[in-house]
Amino acid sequence: MQTANLSSGYEMPVLGLGTWQLTGNKCKSSVKKALELGYRHIDTAWIYDNQKEVGEAIKESGIKREKLFITSKVWTDNLRYNEVLEQCDETLQQLQLSYLDLYLIHWPNKAVDLKETFRAFKKLVNEKKVRSVGVSNFNISRVREAKEKSEIPVSVNQVEYHPYLNQESLLEECKKNKITLTAYSPLARGKMINDKVLKSVAERYNKTTSQIALRWLIQKGLVVIPKASSENHLKENLDIFDFELKKEEMEKINKINIRKRLVNPGFSEFED
Ligand code: NAP
Repeated sequence: MQTANLSSGYEMPVLGLGTWQLTGNKCKSSVKKALELGYRHIDTAWIYDNQKEVGEAIKESGIKREKLFITSKVWTDNLRYNEVLEQCDETLQQLQLSYLDLYLIHWPNKAVDLKETFRAFKKLVNEKKVRSVGVSNFNISRVREAKEKSEIPVSVNQVEYHPYLNQESLLEECKKNKITLTAYSPLARGKMINDKVLKSVAERYNKTTSQIALRWLIQKGLVVIPKASSENHLKENLDIFDFELKKEEMEKINKINIRKRLVNPGFSEFED
């Protein structure tokens, strides 16, 4: 699997499995199946309430820990120093792991100075409970603030990104700051499945519109974490490394951008 070089010095597989809304037995069996098929990167979060099942699936897969890349996120209401440390311990316990590959601030929270959260992240890195740290749902000004306030590299920003929400300026800002951008909801939760532009490109490669969207993101330098529970979807999303989109196809998809944001809860602060 192709990897992205993080500013922490570690490598991150460019394709991972998203697990939001996967809970209980369905979560465990989907993660197990994904690992069996060759996925080595799993994205979870404390708030998803599925870390126990993700941990069981990892354990039962028998795959060596160092071959896996596991991301979790500290919830927005728990960004104080002690809360971060406590929640990370709980996460590690639920996942049955001794360290996380990546730990993210799930959403920014105006009430807590980023310095305080990053101080806790630094301690977790020093204690080898976390390898790389990052943020999620950070806009351009928050990315700049994070960079300024963290004493350790901010490796990743995880945001909504797909052909219907092509956030070029945020991508540029992250590249400038050596922050890898991870695309969540990379399939726009099925909204693009019949898109005409994606379909016309897909036909040329005998691929699906979902595979074209994922390939477009990877070629732009993003990491993708599509969620899938069915075996067909899991396989399809993995099968995107045997073709390359041409420059003019990339540009055609760049232009689709209809600014359709799917995730925008009341406490978020986006520019558009
Ligand atoms: P998504 O990955 O864009 O879409 C998931 C949906 O697409 C599921 O209904 C899935 O169906 C379907 N699907 C998967 N592969 C498909 C394919 N090849 N063809 C057709 N349909 C397909 O949406 P998402 O779950 O919102 O985002 C992915 C992950 O990003 C989450 O699971 C989570 O880990 C992360 N995320 C993070 C944040 C954050 O705030 N940081 C917010 C949202 C999401 P089946 O399940 O039936 O296979």
